[in-house]
Amino acid sequence: MTITTPAADRLTFSRTDAPSPRSDAERAEILADPGFGKHFTDHMVAIDWTIDGGWHDARVQPYGPLLLDPAASVLHYAQEIFEGLKAYRHADGSIWTFRPEKNAERLQRSARRLALPELPTPVFLDSIREIIAADGAWVPSGEDQSLYLRPFMIANESFLGVRAAQRVGYYVIASPAGAYFTGGVKPVSIWLSTEFSRAGKGGTGAAKTGGNYAASLLPQNEAAANGCAQVLFLDAATGTRVDELGGMNVFLVYRDGRVVTPELSGTILEGVTRESVIQLVRDRGLEVEEREVFIDEWREGVASGEISEVFACGTAAVITPIGELKGAGFSVGDPGAPAGELTMSIRGELTDIQYGRVADRHGWLTRLDA
Ligand SMILES: *Cc1c(COP(=O)(O)O)cnc(C)c1O
Repeated sequence: MTITTPAADRLTFSRTDAPSPRSDAERAEILADPGFGKHFTDHMVAIDWTIDGGWHDARVQPYGPLLLDPAASVLHYAQEIFEGLKAYRHADGSIWTFRPEKNAERLQRSARRLALPELPTPVFLDSIREIIAADGAWVPSGEDQSLYLRPFMIANESFLGVRAAQRVGYYVIASPAGAYFTGGVKPVSIWLSTEFSRAGKGGTGAAKTGGNYAASLLPQNEAAANGCAQVLFLDAATGTRVDELGGMNVFLVYRDGRVVTPELSGTILEGVTRESVIQLVRDRGLEVEEREVFIDEWREGVASGEISEVFACGTAAVITPIGELKGAGFSVGDPGAPAGELTMSIRGELTDIQYGRVADRHGWLTRLDA
């Protein structure tokens, strides 16, 4: 029997096992080369919310299509938010995740901005534990592999009027992820979008919501057409300040050791990786400046050699070195140059913590399978 106390900050999950889960051999074949976001585990988490009943009917159920009415408001007005975090298998077989309470809190902030109900942190953490309890065997053990967890929340009230939905669903799906860079970490080229913006003052740039990604796809196509892996967005108001990439935060490293990253201005996403990188850099006694970063500072700094490294960061790729910045009629940096020293060293330290290869001195890890 499922407990459905409206204001509960804990729910009891019921479980319906998948009728035909993949065999050990099928799973092993997928985990040998999982790619990213292509394969999904045998189960999913679902929790319903209604304006009258609050969060209720928390359950683990077979992975499968959602039944959505064609009038479900998420399909029309994009009232949707999501999260992304990973489960890592340590050498002793145990399963851990990285700073999940940060994702829980960010999901709550995103919910407030998108007029969705806040999911209490204990329920979020339990939802992550539940998917691992059902599908822990899907956490791969290969180098740089993980199980990517994708919690999301959608408005699923059948109603075409424009207002916040009174029926909402929260789900967690899980997808095994291979090493992002196969054959070693290689710097990427990124494209400076000057025609399009991702977020404006008072908009949804600080929320993790699908609409921001929808707005980034056309410039992302433009980037790809110009041989670039990602798009860099400037602030919408003046087109002079660096915001972030479509899905990653950015850092500049000065030759003198200073590290600079755009401040949380309300139009960029507050990355958990960003915050962790700032901490690890400061732990080394290096200075991190969170402030306005002008695109001219980047272009001129790289051109003069004063800026020696540039990288982007986010959960999916951890840290991606940026070799070259390209835009209409210009390019700075060297796409063939090796990844920067600090970039690779911080990347190594962060993944060592995540995979349990060094001490977790900041208490960033949460065990999921015990
Ligand atoms: C998720 C996301 C990031 C990275 O956040 P992490 O918590 O580090 O994964 C950066 N920018 C955008 C737009 C994002 O959606």
